[in-house]
Amino acid sequence: MARKFFVGGNWKCNGTTEEVKKIVTKLNEAEVPSEDVVEVVVSPPFVFLTLVKSLLRSDFHVAAQNCWVRKGGAFTGEVSAEMLVNLNIPWVVIGHSERRALLNESNEFVGDKVAYALSQGLKVIACIGETLEQRESGSTMTVVAAQTKAIADKVTNWENVVLAYEPVWAIGTGKVATPAQAQEVHCELRKWLHDNVGAGVAASTRIIYGGSVNGANCKELAAQPDVDGFLVGGASLKPEFIDIIKAAT
Ligand code: PGA
Repeated sequence: MARKFFVGGNWKCNGTTEEVKKIVTKLNEAEVPSEDVVEVVVSPPFVFLTLVKSLLRSDFHVAAQNCWVRKGGAFTGEVSAEMLVNLNIPWVVIGHSERRALLNESNEFVGDKVAYALSQGLKVIACIGETLEQRESGSTMTVVAAQTKAIADKVTNWENVVLAYEPVWAIGTGKVATPAQAQEVHCELRKWLHDNVGAGVAASTRIIYGGSVNGANCKELAAQPDVDGFLVGGASLKPEFIDIIKAAT
């Protein structure tokens, strides 16, 4: 089954109104393959979501960087999935390693969040990935399988899930995974989905790579058979994001 190439831009906790407007202007001017060929989703901080949505070209979409684990209510400082739906925000990033590490989000909590967001009609970019210590001790697959299982335990329909493999050691470090390293884990993850969820889900779910992707390394990564796109941090704020969008073409 053909999997449409997916490129997400994770702006993290960056930007002023003026900077955000400049980035959107650049994106709007860019000549990129059509929406049928590559799906582009940018994820600004919550406070800029509606601004970006109102200014951004209609063939690009927006994602929130997080949402609350259940129905909104007395949860000060949180943003609910219902609110995102109410604002027509189609996508949400869940389980980013920065939230797992800095805010102690567990595998189970991430699984619950993914399931709740999906139940409200959001599409989810679900992030997984091992630390350097875990890679060096040979437990990469055990770690990412456990992270994926916590999601699979709660999710029945994978149609609106993109799985983002982001090795923690590669995020923001300039130390990108080699194409072979990325392909190896993506292939194993697809096998895991095949054996534990189903052949159809394994064949159709996009598994994207994140961690120091840039304009120079994206083409070789995109050429790997199980790399279906990228989640881009630092480079998504720069003009080279356009080159990354074109990586598979
Ligand atoms: P990076 O971040 O591209 O800056 O390494 C990726 C991410 O955190 O999604």
